[in-house]
Amino acid sequence: MTGRAAAMANVSSCRRSAVLPRRQRDTKPETLLRGELTKRGLRGYRKNYAPLKELRSRPDVVFTKQKIAIYVHGCFWHGCPDHQRKTKSNVKWWADKIKANKQRDVASAAALEAAGWKVVRVWEHESPNEAAERIEEIVRATDMPTAAAA
Ligand SMILES: [Zn+2]
Repeated sequence: MTGRAAAMANVSSCRRSAVLPRRQRDTKPETLLRGELTKRGLRGYRKNYAPLKELRSRPDVVFTKQKIAIYVHGCFWHGCPDHQRKTKSNVKWWADKIKANKQRDVASAAALEAAGWKVVRVWEHESPNEAAERIEEIVRATDMPTAAAA
């Protein structure tokens, strides 16, 4: 076994679900965050929508009208500074993988911002409630610039 297969074989089954969020849509942190947004009356978002056709990145929540792109990042895959777990084997493979993810995150955010989008990053470990609050402020401020100035 090489690469991913070998790496995955060394991940215990209970960790596997935490390690593989990018392979599925609608992970738990995404679902919780969307629930909080809906509760706040913020319904005008799209899921996994590509804001820029030339960019392969699909943020998890996209407010198309306000041009706000939200990524919900798994702590492991995206190298959260608070929850960097040490892998016991295939250390270099994992380190390279996570480094590549982080570089892609930065590049995607830069491309979106250059095109006039606001980019919000939410970590898996954040409270969905607090993250939604943060997003609500940004959405409302973008929605009503004159009201905010008044
Ligand atoms: Zn974290």
